[in-house]
Amino acid sequence: MNYPFTLPTLPYPYDAMEPYIDSETMHYHYDKHLKGYMDKLNNILKQYPYLYDKSLTWLLTNPTLLPNEDKQNILNNAGGIYNHLNYFDNLSNNKNVHKPEGKLKWLIDTQYGSFDHFKEIFSKEAEKVFGSGYLLLTIDYSQQLKIEKVANQDTTLLNGRYPLITLDVWEHAYYLKYKNLRKDYIDAFFNVISFPILK
Ligand code: MN
Repeated sequence: MNYPFTLPTLPYPYDAMEPYIDSETMHYHYDKHLKGYMDKLNNILKQYPYLYDKSLTWLLTNPTLLPNEDKQNILNNAGGIYNHLNYFDNLSNNKNVHKPEGKLKWLIDTQYGSFDHFKEIFSKEAEKVFGSGYLLLTIDYSQQLKIEKVANQDTTLLNGRYPLITLDVWEHAYYLKYKNLRKDYIDAFFNVISFPILK
């Protein structure tokens, strides 16, 4: 994916995660918020032809090669696309993927004791994210897992850590349905979560 960024079709119906994530929120979140980041990034990048063929991850991991005057703007909007695509990818109504399997199950069991314990820690940390941001489960080259918060549209890519799970806890992700009850949204997320399969 590179310039000009275009919104892919949502990989499931907008109401697929009902009642946990309502279709109105899905429409706003995907069609307005995610598309907004794409439109803004396209608008900035159009001034810089040398960035037209660069991928999102390239933009996010080569900040020193970005134009100084638009660096933070590019990072914010590229991060907004990257984080949202990961979040929507982490949703599924297939009950077979709501728990980790195979290698990821082994890593979670080894590092957190059990899936239930992992879920408890992850949920508590997600409640504690202050302001706008995400709670991630990341992995590094040595297969160490880490539960970590990122603010705004930051990512952990420059630290060599790749997100396996991305939970959006910006208010726009849940406010229409859950209002101020972020904990209920976090609980609901675990009913529609999709764990990746690690090779
Ligand atoms: Mn969002």
